[in-house]
Amino acid sequence: MSTEHQYQPETNAIRIQTERTWQMEHSTPMFLTSSFCFDTAEEMRATFADETEDNIYTRFSNPNVDEFVQKMCALEGAAAGYATASGMSAVFASFMALLKTGDHLISARSVFGSTHTVITKFLPKWGIAYTYFDVNQPETLEALIKPNTRMIFVETPSNPGLEMVDIAYLSGIAKKHQLILNVDNCFATPVLQKPILAGADLVTHSATKWIDGQGRVLGGVVVGRQDLIKEIYAFCRSTGPAMSPFNAWVLSKSLETLHIRMERHAASALSLAQSLESNPHLQWVKYPLLPSHPQYAIALQQMTGGGGIVCFELKGGVERGARFLNALKMLSLTANLGDSRSIASHPASTTHGKLTDAERMAVGITPGLIRISVGLENVRDILHDIEQALDHSK
Ligand SMILES: *Cc1c(COP(=O)(O)O)cnc(C)c1O
Repeated sequence: MSTEHQYQPETNAIRIQTERTWQMEHSTPMFLTSSFCFDTAEEMRATFADETEDNIYTRFSNPNVDEFVQKMCALEGAAAGYATASGMSAVFASFMALLKTGDHLISARSVFGSTHTVITKFLPKWGIAYTYFDVNQPETLEALIKPNTRMIFVETPSNPGLEMVDIAYLSGIAKKHQLILNVDNCFATPVLQKPILAGADLVTHSATKWIDGQGRVLGGVVVGRQDLIKEIYAFCRSTGPAMSPFNAWVLSKSLETLHIRMERHAASALSLAQSLESNPHLQWVKYPLLPSHPQYAIALQQMTGGGGIVCFELKGGVERGARFLNALKMLSLTANLGDSRSIASHPASTTHGKLTDAERMAVGITPGLIRISVGLENVRDILHDIEQALDHSK
């Protein structure tokens, strides 16, 4: 019996690499080229006829982008993938390539703001209907399935509410009704959660967040079943949301450190959440691995760490939220998350400021909700800044 040694995921994230050129470089070079050359007309014809896998044009494929996709497939346990210019283009392409007029999408109500806009404002323009379900009541989902339902979309944990849903349970329903289960795995990353191993058909990512990890470039990726990725590739190849080779180079380098970064982000976030739970200025603290989280059992079952986001509710509502942000000395006020620098945000006065109170409550955005993206600074400094801002924002 010959058993070939299989590398562990963190090794693949480092060792999967574009073939060395004749320069014998150690680190993959940037292939900043729009197109690729052929020696002969015959070779060019054969490649256009799909008889070879050679590169033609960077909208279709590029060595840096392929390296990033290969690593993501290895990390997620996926058969194939396609990288896009942003997380939203990955989500959008996964909808547009696989849904058509007359189809119906079931989505978790708690999804990223722009995903909500795509589902409620744009899909209906093409006659694609949707129904939201409440992830706190996943047992209500099956009754929402119609003859024209094609896909279930969820984000777990969700942004910003940190709501979770049992992927294996959803996969059972999806398989029974022959639906595509599409999971946005941005918050957990494949280091902490592998939806495909739990039965998901597709995984989408905003690589802009933890995967980049230093707030430098935008990127997205969708990985999963070969037959589905083939359709997504065909859609993207012609419509053009390709990832830039420069961004792919940055993101592939970032994957080399994703495992150690996520371990530290998650350890610091857990310790921060535990410390804040007894703070008198807060109504509650939410983190997937706090036993007080309503879906703690789901986190234990499908995640190997709670991720880098901690949420809490300030006593004092919307006005206190703004005062808290102003009182911070170290944490950044910025729209991103998943950076080495800790970031604080107050959704009710920023990203979700245009919604009514009722609309915000429906997606779990309470008036004093603060989202902390826990960075890689010493956790004592992060805690100190939050505690002093709480004391000075009464
Ligand atoms: C940021 C984000 C997106 C969108 O990603 P972009 O790279 O900003 O387009 C999608 N889903 C989740 C959960 C996100 O946090």
